[in-house]
Amino acid sequence: MLRMKSSCERCGVSLGLTDQAFICSFECTYCSQCAEQLQKQCPNCQGHLVLRPTRSRSPTEGPPQRFKAKLEKLLR
Ligand SMILES: [Zn+2]
Ligand SMILES: [Zn+2]
Repeated sequence: MLRMKSSCERCGVSLGLTDQAFICSFECTYCSQCAEQLQKQCPNCQGHLVLRPTRSRSPTEGPPQRFKAKLEKLLR
């Protein structure tokens, strides 16, 4: 599962789960301002930065039954 980092790697601004953030494939996380300044390229791995999908709540916080069953299957 994608680790949701809570701050920008470059400037340290805090990023909430619903805030716009950019990530590379190694999950380096940047705020939209830094991503813009970096021209959407990660300085750590030279990877392309893409918009991170937002997550409205933690999956452990009462996920729908079907989703839970699917997770259990995957984790078995
Ligand atoms: Zn930043
Ligand atoms: Zn990176």
